[in-house]
Amino acid sequence: MIKYRDLSIKLKLISIQLFTTLFILVFFVGIYLYSQYRQFETVAFNRMSTLSEILGSNSISALLFFDNDAAEDVLKSLKTQPDILNAAVYDHDGLIFATYSLPSAKGFSFNNPVHEGRAVTNSHFVLTERIVFDNLKVGWIALRLDTKNRKAALVEALWQSFLLFIAGLILAALLSVRAQKPISDAILSLSEIAKRVRDSGDYALRLKATSQDELGLLVDTFNDMLEKIWHHEKHLEELVSERTLELEEAKTRAEESDHLKSAFLASMSHELRTPLNSIIGFTGILLQGMAGPLTDEQKKQLGMVKGSASHLLELINDVLDISKIEAGRIDIHGEAFMVDLLVVMAVSSLRPFAEKKGLVFNHTIEPNLPPLHSDKRRLEQVLLNLLNNAIKFTSEGSVQVNCYRRDDSLVIDVIDTGIGINEKDISTIFETFRQIDTGLDRVKEGSGLGLAISKKLSELLGGTLNVKSKPGDGSTFSVVLPLNLESETNED
Ligand code: ADP
Repeated sequence: MIKYRDLSIKLKLISIQLFTTLFILVFFVGIYLYSQYRQFETVAFNRMSTLSEILGSNSISALLFFDNDAAEDVLKSLKTQPDILNAAVYDHDGLIFATYSLPSAKGFSFNNPVHEGRAVTNSHFVLTERIVFDNLKVGWIALRLDTKNRKAALVEALWQSFLLFIAGLILAALLSVRAQKPISDAILSLSEIAKRVRDSGDYALRLKATSQDELGLLVDTFNDMLEKIWHHEKHLEELVSERTLELEEAKTRAEESDHLKSAFLASMSHELRTPLNSIIGFTGILLQGMAGPLTDEQKKQLGMVKGSASHLLELINDVLDISKIEAGRIDIHGEAFMVDLLVVMAVSSLRPFAEKKGLVFNHTIEPNLPPLHSDKRRLEQVLLNLLNNAIKFTSEGSVQVNCYRRDDSLVIDVIDTGIGINEKDISTIFETFRQIDTGLDRVKEGSGLGLAISKKLSELLGGTLNVKSKPGDGSTFSVVLPLNLESETNED
């Protein structure tokens, strides 16, 4: 059911006017009917009073000469008044002197003793008056009137009121339809324009004010607001095209600098790595004594040169790798290879470093692993980095590598019993240039790029790199890679 508050403004205004009119009409019709009811009584008693006066004065001589028949003859004249049911004349002492009754009302007798006055019952009026001659009371006269005419009069009044009521309502409806028009039209066109603005976004639309009242003010204010929004929108459009232009320029500049960066990286790769490789190579030759014998001090100094150059080369390689990954320019070369071989090679190459620190360095490989389809060099890079870290951050205990299959994935766990990582640091260790402050003087040992590169490479290979760690207990880094068994079956 539709609620009143949801009706249109037009219907609300019409209904307000109609209900007000209805209320006024009901009120006045009620007053009219009541007055009609009262008026009937007044008119009836006035007529009865006039009749009793005439009949009384006509009965005086009959009363004075005790002539009952004459009095009854006087009363018989009431036959012309069919609503007078009974009449009676009393003598001076209040004794019945003459009576009159319509045949239908025979058997009725007036109250005894006689009292002057009026009585009203549901269906009758009774009037009793004195008969006076020369200021002396000579008798009484009583009349009884049937009030059935009152009902007929009321029904007639009701009909009249009903017709008036209907006419009033029709008139009010016509008037209210006409009278609400200026108000509802203004509000409806205001809401219509607001809807069109909302739907089309056209802020150039305007409304015409038709009056100088509050509605006119509302329309003017609405137009002002549209005007302002329209200006803002225009300004915004200009601003957007201005900013777009700036952005395009910035993009071009960024592309240029990206190009420059690539060129720089390429040249850095050549300009820095080539001489560094030469330094490492030549110091190696010198250290092997191929250019002549060296003193112990010279060997020590040259060893330091070689170490620093190797560290620098690693750093440069890391920076180049992360730059390439971030620029999306790293190439992944997928091939099928035996992962157990790769693990064995990586473990063997780092075993001397682990043993030098007195660490137990073991590995387990699940037998009959299927060949892995991935980039061998990149996976090796990840594994070496994890192993390096494990050895670097473990001063006693062990480093363990486990390689096994889990569902359709290959998992390589690198488990150490080293210093571990705080929970709050776990999310940051994979960010670039992040090194956790462990209180150890080991910052120079790394670039803070190894894990960032490893994680991104693992993801590029379609896998993940995760860590579980507890400070003091050690860490477990897990590389999980898809085995791509389908392509293996296809190739087979
Ligand atoms: P870094 O070159 O410093 O090793 P990484 O990105 O490889 O850079 O590692 C980031 C940081 O994560 C390290 O500085 C270290 O604090 C922490 N970390 C990495 N591996 C381990 C590990 N096995 N045990 C404890 N901490 C580790």
